[in-house]
Amino acid sequence: MSSKFRLRMARIKDYVGKLWDVVIIGAGAAGVAAGIYSARYMLKTIVVSENEGGTLLEAAEIENYPGFPSILGPDLARKFIDHLKKYNVPILKSRVTDIVRREDGLFLIKGTRGLELKAKTVILALGTVRRKLGVPGEEEFAGRGVSYCTVCDIPLFKGKVVAIVGGGDSALQGVLLASRHASKVYLIHRRDKFRAQPIYVEQAKKLDNVEFVLKETVVEIGGTNKVEWIKLRSGRILKVDGIFIEIGEEPPREFLEKIGLELDEKGFIKVREDMSTNIPGLFAAGDVTNIPLKQIVTAVYTGARAATSAYEYITKMKVEGR
Ligand code: NAP
Repeated sequence: MSSKFRLRMARIKDYVGKLWDVVIIGAGAAGVAAGIYSARYMLKTIVVSENEGGTLLEAAEIENYPGFPSILGPDLARKFIDHLKKYNVPILKSRVTDIVRREDGLFLIKGTRGLELKAKTVILALGTVRRKLGVPGEEEFAGRGVSYCTVCDIPLFKGKVVAIVGGGDSALQGVLLASRHASKVYLIHRRDKFRAQPIYVEQAKKLDNVEFVLKETVVEIGGTNKVEWIKLRSGRILKVDGIFIEIGEEPPREFLEKIGLELDEKGFIKVREDMSTNIPGLFAAGDVTNIPLKQIVTAVYTGARAATSAYEYITKMKVEGR
């Protein structure tokens, strides 16, 4: 680990065992907004996250966040994090592995790298994980031509042939970006209707080096040392150097169930209007909740709302003498 990195990240051992008003898990748009609001409510606040920026780090050009007509995801993430750091909110690098609400109402939060914190309230803003295709070759070639983040990895495929799977915003934005790097881009989607915003579909259709392969699915990924081909359900084989799987996100269901959270049928946390969950004192925000619009503006709103609810919860605790 470089000394620069050590300086930038807060050291976990300096915080172990301390009691916090709010522990925020996740440092994406929702977690950052929650942190800024909590700090401004003068709550003793700390953020725990595996990275600084969440899924924003994987976003291409963002054109629908007010105030920024066009900005790259990682650049917006940097601005968010810098804003949070202005309030001296520590950000600890750890993956939270357990959250227990004790009988006295306090939370015990445990995570990797020796993380152990106590808190009056918790805001879960840990986002989602990438959905997998579940086909032969996918696991074997992960990192050797199989990628789940076009934005992160497409520069490695300059002048190559790639396939992008999916029909949502991530896939279509991925195609727009990939067409600037790759010589040829196949967009493989299982239907002929798209979830993606029409503007992205229209832009992609106009590109000479993009071929839409519709009503098709990938059934196998193959090669020797790295990806060389993909097989489609129809039997068609496409020679590709890389495949980008952009088929959406899933909540980390197993972890959420372990904590005892009430989830919807897809595994997202059921939240009330105030972002409270079935566990008193535990609030949720952002993509991990069952709020349908998964956008940065929504994440920011729900983060701010969760912090406000945490503040109200703690104020009530004080009035009740807890
Ligand atoms: P998504 O909207 O859930 O779309 C996933 C796509 O993958 C769908 O087209 C789906 O097909 C397909 N799919 C799912 N499982 C599949 C499987 N097993 N095999 C083949 N195809 C499969 O996911 P997303 O595009 O990652 O977007 C996630 C959220 O982030 C959305 O709310 C999106 O609006 C948002 N987002 C927004 C922006 C933006 O505003 N610029 C950018 C990126 C993401 P079906 O359509 O047939 O179900």
